[in-house]
Amino acid sequence: MATARLTSEEIDRQMAICAQIAEGNAARPSQPLALVDTYGCQQNEADSERLRGYLREMGYAFTQDEALADVIVVNTCAVRGHAEDRVLGNVGALVHTKRKKPGQIIALCGCMMGEPGMVEKIRDSYRHVDLVFDPHALWKFPELLQRVITRRGRVFDTPGGDGAIAEGVPVARQGTLKAWVSVMYGCNNFCSYCIVPYVRGRERSRRPEDILAEVKELVAAGCRDITLLGQNVNSYGKDLGEGVDFPWLLERVCAVEGEFLVRFMTSHPKDASDRLFQVMAREPKIAHHLHLPFQCGNDRVLAAMNRRYTAAGYLELVRRLRAYIPDIVLTSDVIVGFPGETTAEFEDTLRLIEEVRFDALFTFIYSPREGTPAAKLPDVLTAEEKQANFQRLVDAQNAISHAIHQGYIGRTFRCLIDGVGKDSRNNLTARTNSGRLVHLSGPEDLVGQFRDVTITDATTWALFGRLEEEG
Ligand code: SF4
Repeated sequence: MATARLTSEEIDRQMAICAQIAEGNAARPSQPLALVDTYGCQQNEADSERLRGYLREMGYAFTQDEALADVIVVNTCAVRGHAEDRVLGNVGALVHTKRKKPGQIIALCGCMMGEPGMVEKIRDSYRHVDLVFDPHALWKFPELLQRVITRRGRVFDTPGGDGAIAEGVPVARQGTLKAWVSVMYGCNNFCSYCIVPYVRGRERSRRPEDILAEVKELVAAGCRDITLLGQNVNSYGKDLGEGVDFPWLLERVCAVEGEFLVRFMTSHPKDASDRLFQVMAREPKIAHHLHLPFQCGNDRVLAAMNRRYTAAGYLELVRRLRAYIPDIVLTSDVIVGFPGETTAEFEDTLRLIEEVRFDALFTFIYSPREGTPAAKLPDVLTAEEKQANFQRLVDAQNAISHAIHQGYIGRTFRCLIDGVGKDSRNNLTARTNSGRLVHLSGPEDLVGQFRDVTITDATTWALFGRLEEEG
């Protein structure tokens, strides 16, 4: 089925509504304030930049103080139960803020709003929430907010389905040096533990010309570090029917003139190809970093997760990647305690990380998501046993990360100086090409520049360095 795309007239209509709201806001005694609170992944961060873009067009300034905000938008994440409980707790507490500021508008959006039963729960138990919309309705946020402002009661818009691509939504980015650029939305993989395909719909690719125009604009505005985003970037282009794919797109992005780095995430191992690795090795603008989630090192559990690769297949992929790019920094996601996983099976995960020696891991204890196949599977381990396995994994990875970081000491890397840190002894932060964090001291006007930095010390999580003189 062809990917649905919204017409430019539909976005123009939203922009016209922004202008109407801005007119009303300009007549208020002081500029109204908005707060956008974001949970979850980079895709949600990118969505929040669009929400802020619309709010800015509507004449709002921004605050971090809930008590002062005229509009609060909570952009939620459905991936883990713990984060979900935190969202609901925080939204519940807003009842007190709203009591003190009765005109305050509270909106909920993001993946949680696409979950079965969630809209009913908000409708019945969170009556101070004025507006609810799912990720597929984000493009019409101005229209929905206007309906709330003009007091037509509470507004719920959760169309679900596969979603459409909306180009031209304004973006208010958090900074000028780094940017997220979504290249596709949704996922077709249906890993058995994951809610994303249900709440974000099927894979939909943006047109290459729209992505390239955005990258050109960002680089011209001084952006030096661009991350291409998608739930599974290696599927890019399949729905376009034009014979384009992700390695092709990467080459086009790298052809944009200027000094900048390109990163991307996330890559599913089953779709990571030699062509991708060859382009990464060839193009100097692509960071030597790959986030390649393996989730588990046991083949029975991998099959139950519906990951469609084996541990041996993953190891072979890493071997080929390292043959193309020997200095690749490799990171991954791991789930401990998938339903039915025994401790003996978990130990295959330990063996895999010892063999690969990842630079860093994002480790999670399995969290059941209602509506996914895995949520119906029985457990064999207790919560305490899962926690003990989780700790073994964390300890093993910390030892590996520490050893790898010690190997950086004495070496010099080209780094992007990307910010001012909190530590007065190391007032600057920088990133190596592969995204490792470096603390160093130097003049603040270097922020935004690429400089050579020699690593002088290292901990498990960070590097410390010294600026080299420019020759
Ligand atoms: S690839 Fe799997 S884990 Fe990743 S978003 Fe898709 S279904 Fe979820």
